[in-house]
Amino acid sequence: MSPRFLVLGGGPAGATTAAVLAGHGASVTVVERTRMPRHHVGESLQPASLALLDRHLGLGPAIAALAFPRKYGAAYVWGESRDPWTVLFDPRLETDLSTLTEAALLAGPYEHAFNVERATFDHLLLQEAARRGADVREDVEAVGVLEEDGRVVGARLLANGRHEDMRADVVIDASGQRCLVGRHFGLTRTVPDLRATATYTWFDGAGGFPGPLGRHIQWIVTVPDGWIWFIPIGPDRTSVGIVTRERARMDEARFDAILATAGLPLEGARSVAPEGGGRLCFARDWSFTHARLAGDGWMLVGDAAAFVDPILSGGVDFAVRGGCQAALALLRGYGDERADRAALLAAYDADVAQDYKAYVRLARYWYGNNRSVEGFFWEAHREIPPHAVSTPYRAFVYLTTGKLAADRHLRVFQDWQERKMFRALGVDAEAVKRAALTARGGG
Ligand SMILES: Cc1cc2nc3c(=O)[nH]c(=O)nc-3n(C[C@H](O)[C@H](O)[C@H](O)COP(=O)(O)OP(=O)(O)OC[C@H]3O[C@@H](n4cnc5c(N)ncnc54)[C@H](O)[C@@H]3O)c2cc1C
Repeated sequence: MSPRFLVLGGGPAGATTAAVLAGHGASVTVVERTRMPRHHVGESLQPASLALLDRHLGLGPAIAALAFPRKYGAAYVWGESRDPWTVLFDPRLETDLSTLTEAALLAGPYEHAFNVERATFDHLLLQEAARRGADVREDVEAVGVLEEDGRVVGARLLANGRHEDMRADVVIDASGQRCLVGRHFGLTRTVPDLRATATYTWFDGAGGFPGPLGRHIQWIVTVPDGWIWFIPIGPDRTSVGIVTRERARMDEARFDAILATAGLPLEGARSVAPEGGGRLCFARDWSFTHARLAGDGWMLVGDAAAFVDPILSGGVDFAVRGGCQAALALLRGYGDERADRAALLAAYDADVAQDYKAYVRLARYWYGNNRSVEGFFWEAHREIPPHAVSTPYRAFVYLTTGKLAADRHLRVFQDWQERKMFRALGVDAEAVKRAALTARGGG
């Protein structure tokens, strides 16, 4: 019988896992507590995860068609100087930008991501999972983990006031900061020095960055109390949030007073409530991970695996890539009877944990706010194999845009595809590789 996978949560991590699994013919069910589209914080994306969504799911054109503002990089007022500095995804922009108009920038071949309204973006991903054959059930909450002899065998679900137990070969926890499985096993570990609170809202009618980058970049600005994000998420709409170490909820007067000191182009802009309720939204921003990210019958993906302070805007990137990695580990493990499933789950755990640790180190370094800009880049360079990038600046981009980890994932994916193809043709993959080496003079 073909294996059955159950994904808890239909955000970017769960939707990506399910879409990739279903796309390769696996039987997968997703349960999502809400009904999409639903609001979510975390609007500034990275290019590598968009490339993964295109490579695995062909979603590049559909995401571009949503027509969200392009993001060519990030502008910072951060560090020992108050002069803004930028990090641009495409190396060509380091020289071209000074001669470009906004129209030429948008018409050019430059690498970019998008800043999005998460309700629309997340909905697209979950719809894609359904389109590829996943059984997507909205308004269904996972409320418990089913365990037999130390092995996870399913989840208890709640829908329309009724409980149902659903069994599965593997339960993939993508429930975001709810961390259903991680908490069930008591594996959650917070990072004590990276605890903050975010207060945010949307504005209509805000301006943009000077020059051609205009509203095609994300701003991060430090203020004495913390830092502010300014993320254009539509032609006229901007998400603005303040991250501080305070535990208590910030009131409107203080929110507006802090914004007034930041030098952002908000003059005349009108506040819009992101969730249709009060003007301000609040999000807990505590970094955490889990002692293990996979075990017998379970895997943790996206925020449900680990969450790093959003200073580097990496959450959705981790979620999408984690979904691809988790799906690939399962396809490799369950697509071949001889596969060592425990080793594949352990490799998934080690890969995600490694990326997470590199990110936490960089976030910590970042919060030592009296550093020079070059210091941030050098810190990133320490995480990268020396041959992989040319300068500390490019090392920073390679790491924080998710490309380093995405490239690693794609190498494993390609190897798996080749082996599958050879198997289907009845060819011994190892013999082919040996022959290729010999032909190149390496064997
Ligand atoms: C203040 C702040 C700012 C951020 N800014 C950025 C940013 O600019 N860029 C970026 O990339 N990331 C950012 N992030 C991080 C980003 O929001 C998350 O990393 C991302 O949403 C993770 O995706 P996910 O699919 O793992 O989880 P989620 O997006 O949270 O999705 C989890 C889903 O699971 C569902 N669910 C929860 N519990 C259950 C249950 N029991 N049963 C069924 N369904 C359940 C939820 O309804 C939800 O839809 C930010 C985070 C914070 C806190």
